[in-house]
Amino acid sequence: MSEEKRILHMVAPHDPRLLSKIAPFKDDDLKLHDFKDRKELGKAMYDTMKKYGGIGLSCNQVGLPYRMFVMGGHPQIDMGRTKYCFNPEVLDMGKEMVMMKEGCLSFPFIFLAIRRPKWIQVKYEDEEGETKEEHLHGMLSRIFQHENEHMNGLIFKDLVSDFKWKRANEKAKKIVDKLLKKQNKEKNDNTLH
Ligand SMILES: [Zn+2]
Repeated sequence: MSEEKRILHMVAPHDPRLLSKIAPFKDDDLKLHDFKDRKELGKAMYDTMKKYGGIGLSCNQVGLPYRMFVMGGHPQIDMGRTKYCFNPEVLDMGKEMVMMKEGCLSFPFIFLAIRRPKWIQVKYEDEEGETKEEHLHGMLSRIFQHENEHMNGLIFKDLVSDFKWKRANEKAKKIVDKLLKKQNKEKNDNTLH
């Protein structure tokens, strides 16, 4: 078996595939994009998420029409386990809310403080096709909620005011400008020596 990694292409933030609700996942649809089974799709999603340094990635972020996301894969989250969530659902949520800064691979350098329920009860099918029901809290609860919104074509921008969004974009621009300046300086230094 080939160990070659299939890295998927991130679509642009305004791409309609990212901003549309995804239909329920069916195994038969996998072949439309050359995946032989759930595990092969899961591996490509995992490898892509890791390549971009994320802790969650939804299929529509890479232009695939599957109601599926991958999450975790980080040593400090759930002991490094990865969840492959097909047809995810939030069944219930706690009343207690927590505020936390969130990023999204579709919006590099943008971070938004978002209030979300502390815990949720969820249901999904895993990479074997088995239905799981779990109680999630902490980072797992947060990532699941963020990714599950992607399934419905929502992005984290939809959860904050225009003002907050604008501020976060200005901050992102500053970070990018600083990085570019540093890169240019390094380039010039290398030319001089
Ligand atoms: Zn996201």
